[in-house]
Amino acid sequence: MSANELRAKRNRLADELKRAQAELGQAESLCQHKWSEPKYTPIYHESYLICRKDPPGVGGADRIFEDIWSDPKTEDIWTRTCSKCGKEETTTSVETRTEVHKTPKFRS
Ligand SMILES: [Zn+2]
Repeated sequence: MSANELRAKRNRLADELKRAQAELGQAESLCQHKWSEPKYTPIYHESYLICRKDPPGVGGADRIFEDIWSDPKTEDIWTRTCSKCGKEETTTSVETRTEVHKTPKFRS
């Protein structure tokens, strides 16, 4: 296929994708979702190099003697799926609930 043909094909498919996304969005918005129980689906982020130490002979008073790494972290993510239309939703938001414990208290 020539570059021109490939470009035309890409444009045609991009249009088709846009249409499919719009139709899917509409189908999803019409669904009266029936959500599954949220599943905990965390993502683990490995530590990565933030700053490499300065090579010998470089830098002044603020020279960096050690490589600086980020802390690895686990991102809390929950996913729920609609059993009717298959839509998947994820969230990182949580609600914090405080439990109230009732303890009997008598006048001494
Ligand atoms: Zn649904």
